[in-house]
Amino acid sequence: MTTIDSSHLVRMFNQVAAALDADKDRLCQLDGVIGDADHGIAMELGFSAVRDTLASLDVAGLDPTAVFNTAAKSFLNAVGASSGPLYATAFMRAGAAVKGKPALEEADMVAALQAMAKGIQDRGKAEIGEKTMIDAWVPAADAAGAAFAAGKPLAQVLEAAVVAANEGAEATKAMVAAKGRSARLGDRSIGHMDPGAASAVTVLEAMRQGLTEA
Ligand code: ADP
Ligand code: MG
Repeated sequence: MTTIDSSHLVRMFNQVAAALDADKDRLCQLDGVIGDADHGIAMELGFSAVRDTLASLDVAGLDPTAVFNTAAKSFLNAVGASSGPLYATAFMRAGAAVKGKPALEEADMVAALQAMAKGIQDRGKAEIGEKTMIDAWVPAADAAGAAFAAGKPLAQVLEAAVVAANEGAEATKAMVAAKGRSARLGDRSIGHMDPGAASAVTVLEAMRQGLTEA
């Protein structure tokens, strides 16, 4: 499957919601070490709100941009933590990147992923190496772009993104937090994975499953 319509995007968001539900406790534990222990709850709340809102709409009448914009609003309304505006911006940017398209080709999906990473970066102003979700999202978007440029099919493009996100999340263990709540820990944040980078891996893996597995 290379063409992604709104119903595929809904399936993708449903898959992400289920994955965050399953991963909630681990993410709260990670956030408990260097933050305030709510990251799993925030992400689960956000994506279940997206899932429930999309379920209440007639998706056949929505184009992909409308699905992403709906996701952005639902996520923002449901999440009070810093991940709320970061993911809401990601979805808004994904929607803008595919504006006017009734369905998405592989190139559009890659553009949407890259727009998500850029949106999170623009909104949060974090750079690589500052121990945030950016350390997973930016390498993931870059890897997706490289795999697409190398002619890989969507399944392999998304797989490459997941692998890169996972490496980025692992790398956050060695970093000193410089953005967000954990920044005040300074050197004491070393040795622990950033929860937002950890959840980015879960999000991307569920996106991959929802878009490429029947
Ligand atoms: P809060 O810190 O408000 O409790 P969450 O627990 O939901 O929010 O999310 C924490 C995660 O948000 C961090 O692990 C980090 O990955 C991410 N984060 C925080 N600030 C930024 C930022 N400025 N840019 C990118 N990501 C950030
Ligand atoms: Mg938190």
